[in-house]
Amino acid sequence: MARFIFITGGVVSSLGKGLASAALGALLQARGFSVRLRKLDPYLNVDPGTMSPFEHGEVFVTDDGAETDLDLGHYERFTGVAARATDSVSSGRIYSNVLEKERRGDYLGKTIQVIPHVTNEIKDFIRIGEDEVDFMLCEIGGTVGDIEGLPFFEAIRQFGQDKPRGQCIFMHLTLLPYIRASGELKTKPTQHSVKELRSIGIAPDVLVCRSEGPIPEKEREKLALFCNVRPDSVIAAQDLKSIYEAPLAYHREGLDQAVLDAFQISPAPKPDLARWEDVADRIFNAEGEVRIAIVGKYTQLEDAYKSIAEALTHGGMANRVRVKADWIDAEIFEREDPSPWLEGFHAILVPGGFGERGTEGKIKAAQFARERDIPYLGICLGMQMAVIEAARNVAQLPDAGSEEFDHESGKKRFTPVVYHLKEWVQGNATVRRKVEDDKGGTMRLGSYTAHLAEGSRVAQIYGTTVIEERHRHRYEVDTRYRDKLEEKGLVFSGMSPDGRLPEIVEWKDHRWFIGVQFHPELKSKPFAPHPLFADFVRAAVETSRLV
Ligand code: GLN
Repeated sequence: MARFIFITGGVVSSLGKGLASAALGALLQARGFSVRLRKLDPYLNVDPGTMSPFEHGEVFVTDDGAETDLDLGHYERFTGVAARATDSVSSGRIYSNVLEKERRGDYLGKTIQVIPHVTNEIKDFIRIGEDEVDFMLCEIGGTVGDIEGLPFFEAIRQFGQDKPRGQCIFMHLTLLPYIRASGELKTKPTQHSVKELRSIGIAPDVLVCRSEGPIPEKEREKLALFCNVRPDSVIAAQDLKSIYEAPLAYHREGLDQAVLDAFQISPAPKPDLARWEDVADRIFNAEGEVRIAIVGKYTQLEDAYKSIAEALTHGGMANRVRVKADWIDAEIFEREDPSPWLEGFHAILVPGGFGERGTEGKIKAAQFARERDIPYLGICLGMQMAVIEAARNVAQLPDAGSEEFDHESGKKRFTPVVYHLKEWVQGNATVRRKVEDDKGGTMRLGSYTAHLAEGSRVAQIYGTTVIEERHRHRYEVDTRYRDKLEEKGLVFSGMSPDGRLPEIVEWKDHRWFIGVQFHPELKSKPFAPHPLFADFVRAAVETSRLV
């Protein structure tokens, strides 16, 4: 039976609660325990699938096809445990489940209330798979005191009571602001936050305090006294140069020890931190730097491409170089020649995206990479744009485009080299969709197998010819144009097992030009960089030596 760690936040948001949870998961693993991490989000959207990446950051897709919060990406990157649909839930999903049950008559005519019906639904969710791991870490989104969060806080309070004593602990993350004028670290906001938490019946066992520097003894004692925790359970979370330092930094601060003490696990198994020492060594002792241009749409908010940024860092670690990624708005290339912008980069990446805006610019970026022999990695939409570029400029199909853009504009302007997929095979079943189907419910989502052509560059990179990667898209490259494109050198080197859906294309006589219909970035980890990213950065290093 799992032990449960509930992670809450106070004072302000964006303190790195997800990172703290992920790092704690990694530290418990280092001590030989199995873990699973979960995110409970108070917002009312049923899932983040239709939320704007500008507002909410990237949508992280699991193997089983759930569109989840980007924190699940952190969890996976730190623990290597593949997230599942049942690792993320929102108020919207909880309420929608409750209302569905009510309509079905499951509650036998009873009055449906937040307590106990909504809280029971939350507790049922927390319990899923509790027999599988030693520790279940559940992070509650938002901060204590938020109206939306209340049912979640109430549910975890009850949960702690439902379980035998000592099986649940509460960890609270707050901010210690530093007042420069007086040179002081202030504990008052944390005191208030803990007071708020205690007023709803939750007493934190471990207090993690985000601060610019170390916490002086005096403040630590004050926090312990006023917040009713033990002094050695007050953990400083100082600003870090790299997120991948977090497991080692939290270990130095005693986080994992404090957690094991709170559970009275004694003697605590010794940690093996070799994996994280190697990761830190690769980050802090990198030699040289490569510059990679990311030509995309959501360039204002780095979180919109979180996993890509991280996967590039991992690719750098694999090659012991630093990757300097520059984000360029694709729309610029619709007005200006891309050359002055892109010259000087050692590789170009065009990420996934939705909608027509910026796509002509992405096509220009693909053309630049192809013509100049610069390494190019096209992900999802980035692959589709590379195919359209090839069709227009190499295979004499000047009107080539994607049906996605015709659907958007309501006009038929393009030869659909990329078309809307309405039927496909998933495992043993056939999935069917209509264009008008619900937004959010119409995509090819989650893990699918691809078969790689023997002797192709991708087969060599992966070291195998059968791979599983995660998908999130509605449109597909049409195999109708395959022969024409292959004749010109754009090889369809990865296909779905039934041979109908192109998964990978690569230019034959190019230094490194690969487009993938899936999202390899979602599976990359600092201690196991994704082979495509590792090799893409290797090619960038090679290019950097030529200039
Ligand atoms: N918009 C494209 C599609 O739906 C690409 C999606 C993506 O890049 N994730 O197929």
